[in-house]
Amino acid sequence: MSNSYVLVINSGSSSLKFAVIDPETGDAVVSGLGECFGLPEAEISWKYQGEKTAEAIPAGGDHHQYAFERIVKLLDTLGLSEKFVAVGHRVVAGGEAFKGTVRVNEEVVAEIERLAELAPLHNKANADGIRAAMEVFPSLPQFAIFDTAFHQTMPAKAFMYALPHEIYDEYKVRRYGAHGTSHYFVSREAAKALGKSATDCNVITVHLGNGASITAVKNGESVDTSMGLTPLAGVMMGTRCGDLDPSVIEFLMRKGWDQEKIFTTLNKKSGFLGLSGKTSDARGIQEAMEAGDERAKLAFDVFNYRVAKYIASYMVSVGEGLDAIVFTGGIGENSLPVRHEVLNYLKVFGFVEDEKGNEAARFGQSGIIAKSEVMGAVAMVIPTNEELVIAQDCVSLL
Ligand code: ADP
Repeated sequence: MSNSYVLVINSGSSSLKFAVIDPETGDAVVSGLGECFGLPEAEISWKYQGEKTAEAIPAGGDHHQYAFERIVKLLDTLGLSEKFVAVGHRVVAGGEAFKGTVRVNEEVVAEIERLAELAPLHNKANADGIRAAMEVFPSLPQFAIFDTAFHQTMPAKAFMYALPHEIYDEYKVRRYGAHGTSHYFVSREAAKALGKSATDCNVITVHLGNGASITAVKNGESVDTSMGLTPLAGVMMGTRCGDLDPSVIEFLMRKGWDQEKIFTTLNKKSGFLGLSGKTSDARGIQEAMEAGDERAKLAFDVFNYRVAKYIASYMVSVGEGLDAIVFTGGIGENSLPVRHEVLNYLKVFGFVEDEKGNEAARFGQSGIIAKSEVMGAVAMVIPTNEELVIAQDCVSLL
């Protein structure tokens, strides 16, 4: 274990994740999560030396601020604060301005706030987290790591919407994508596992968590991705609708729905939650489905079908020489039924599930779960580690 750590902060709209990462080994010395901010069940929990602790956050007041102060106190008590060499902040939208990780200054924070129009649920919370950390650790270098940066290599034919060009020229409305750190990490790990150099490896990375996105990675670079201007597009998600005919919005407006109601519905009340009417959580969907709930089964079916269709379409984006399809994220790393169903659709490309391999690659375990002789490719599971990428980026820029 080294003596220099990076504090990684992921400040979300109703949560605050943190981890103290050893950039040499990738180990998390301590990691934790404040969640359900603004609700009576708000709490903060962390894991240190294998032990989990959870505390309720008192009702009222600013829960972000409370959680941040509690984390700082915890890190002081554990004697970690003086070992930090940098703070790395996950930021969702970097627009076209940020093509890689940058050191944070006042100008950078202002630009992140300005870009909140691209990720309204996320960027403001990201910027607030950066400001809070700059205040507590004024002498530490702070870095912003953007979810969109990895996708800045997409060609125009992938990132342009078929709208009047002025809308791009004037407002920079285009596909930006998200989850870039995760897609980057698992594509690199896949290349390593296959004994190839990253720049010679073609993969389709399938990040399925509460948010879900799929990326075509050709010769190590993102060439297309399913999220769009904002993280609302693409496959269906926990509470987000994914791809939608834009006319649905106009239709609902004509029915008297206002912008706020539509926005909240598409972002927070759709996906697994909306279709099932029960839960946004994939495990909950599986349980309800096993108990015979038809709407949960519908939500499960729509999800898998859409994921498989995106993977199929990215065969075109990657072109000849696909090496692997890589599953990651909470659902991708753990859900046997989802992977089984998606692999079933991919039979048409010659993929044959390795049932034992699929069972074994769960709960933090990587592994090959299917092979296609036709494509000369495998399907595999690789647990993501966005915090490690963030920590290593900080150290390499120091
Ligand atoms: P986030 O996008 O918030 O980081 P995660 O990547 O942690 O989310 O993924 C959360 C999702 O993973 C939830 O839908 C959860 O139900 C699902 N998940 C976690 N473990 C399992 C499991 N064993 N089986 C099925 N789904 C799982």
